[in-house]
Amino acid sequence: MTSTDSLAPRLPSPLQELRDDRFSRHGVRLLLKRDDLIHPELIGNKWRKLVPNIEAAQGRALVTFGGAYSNHLRATAAAGRLLGLGTTGVVRGQELAGRPLNPSLSRCAADGMRLHFVDRSTYRHKSEPETLAAILRAAGAEGAYVVPEGGSNAQAVRGCRALGEELRGRADVVAVACGTGGTLAGLAAGLAARQRALGIPVLKGGFLAHDIEALQERAFGARTGAWSLDDRFHFGGYARTAPALDAFAEDFEQRHALPVERLYVAKLLYGLVALAEEGAFARGTTVAAVVTGRPFPQP
Ligand SMILES: *Cc1c(COP(=O)(O)O)cnc(C)c1O
Repeated sequence: MTSTDSLAPRLPSPLQELRDDRFSRHGVRLLLKRDDLIHPELIGNKWRKLVPNIEAAQGRALVTFGGAYSNHLRATAAAGRLLGLGTTGVVRGQELAGRPLNPSLSRCAADGMRLHFVDRSTYRHKSEPETLAAILRAAGAEGAYVVPEGGSNAQAVRGCRALGEELRGRADVVAVACGTGGTLAGLAAGLAARQRALGIPVLKGGFLAHDIEALQERAFGARTGAWSLDDRFHFGGYARTAPALDAFAEDFEQRHALPVERLYVAKLLYGLVALAEEGAFARGTTVAAVVTGRPFPQP
């Protein structure tokens, strides 16, 4: 077993009430579930998803996958440094190989992660056994423990169930931004019977509900808990933004002195304000928004 003591978390993560008239004038209470404060380097849901995988890896090196700005790659690299585990990051985009590393990949490399770049078509097929085997061979990572893209597998989903359990009896609706949906899949399973989870996908596509069901089937044997998705707030897709979203995030930071992570958390909060304004939450509803990350580089 690997001792994960140096990944000691602050759990349960803090739950804070926020005063914001865009909610209060509709009779809605807004809480922030500060998963961004769980650990200084394995931020938010990344701690909840990675630690069960590190335990399952039993000291083997880790290999995982991500894009050039992946929060998951940075978290995996940091865990490797803190625990003295080897890590390899398979990065989407062969064309990045010859170029200077961006700040996110530089941080991964500085934490000792070996970076291996693959073209987009190979990357797309990475879950097929032959393609995966070829990637691992080329990356020199045969025998390493494979954590899938975004860190979402059955262990990770079961790890995120604790997020729901921490929120039992504390809110009517718990909202989270979704990439792979692994966090929502676990969260929904941990909530009490009368609570519901709401996911705000940051990717365009519409395939996510199916993926989340499949993750829950693998982790728990069946679809579990009350959850739904609202697909209207992705702003065109992953890492896409718009002046209105940037302005919203800056204003939110100033109102509440909360650093707003832009890829996920900004879209979640924007979506919740829009839903409150539409009257989607009945008066008297308490909504908890999960703050799954913080900006990188740190402001
Ligand atoms: C990775 C990440 C997510 C997405 O989590 P999934 O489990 O892939 O849906 C959400 N927010 C932040 C800040 C993240 O880094």
